[in-house]
Amino acid sequence: MPELPEVETVARTLAPHVNGSRITGVEVLRASAVHPLSLPPATLAGLVIAGVRRRGKLILLDVAPADKPRNPGGVPSLVAVHLRMTGRLLPRPAGTAPGPYTRWLLDLEKPDGTPQRLFFDDTRAFGTVFAATPGLLQQWEFWRGLGPEPLELTPDGFDRRLSGRRAIKAALLDQRVVAGIGNIYADEALHRAGIDPRRPVADLGPAERRRLLGALKDVLALAIDQCGSSIRDYRDADGNAGAFQNSFAVYGRAGKACLGCGETLSGRRVAGRATVFCPRCQR
Ligand SMILES: [Zn+2]
Repeated sequence: MPELPEVETVARTLAPHVNGSRITGVEVLRASAVHPLSLPPATLAGLVIAGVRRRGKLILLDVAPADKPRNPGGVPSLVAVHLRMTGRLLPRPAGTAPGPYTRWLLDLEKPDGTPQRLFFDDTRAFGTVFAATPGLLQQWEFWRGLGPEPLELTPDGFDRRLSGRRAIKAALLDQRVVAGIGNIYADEALHRAGIDPRRPVADLGPAERRRLLGALKDVLALAIDQCGSSIRDYRDADGNAGAFQNSFAVYGRAGKACLGCGETLSGRRVAGRATVFCPRCQR
């Protein structure tokens, strides 16, 4: 599943393709790919894509009427795309036919008049697209509960969000605690911080919490620099793979030697997820 660095990379690589483009048509090929709370996708027609952003693991396309600085009521001001397991946003030349896994597509006209298409392809079909007003977005429980961006989080803010007896790995995966972290970056950050993923949150001291937040920010920044991690089929909007998978210290390395101390890395299920850690470096 794409996590924060991969979704950030998709947003950054997609922006030059679609910024300033006018939406001239919308085609839904699989109704379940549209979020149940979404405005009808046809309401996007005529709007201009003003920017591409990321929030947690969501891609946000800001949209606005071409001739007005602000949206009138009832018109979407953004499109939230949840890539989930296998969702991909792919710019395509005009006239390209939808593929077998294309769930949704936009016909676009670039500022210079060139037509193109934007496909939302999703093999596993868990991803959703949500055309929303800010008010409508607030009705989405997932959005309302989304925790802070980890790269903007202060040690005090992180500390306030960590409580209870559940495992620290479970807390990191909880999108309400911090947004955008999944299995890869939780394991990598915990290894970098030297913290056992099974430790109860409440047992982590102030220094460990600070160390963990620092490790999380370091790992995320390094992964963004390398355009994310490509395991299975993740690609950015230009079809390129990321490179951070070559820098994994623990993820996918159970049974191999710890790069820090040489000890054999353990693979266990923690918080319902496959988890890899070093029994010697992580206490
Ligand atoms: Zn080790």
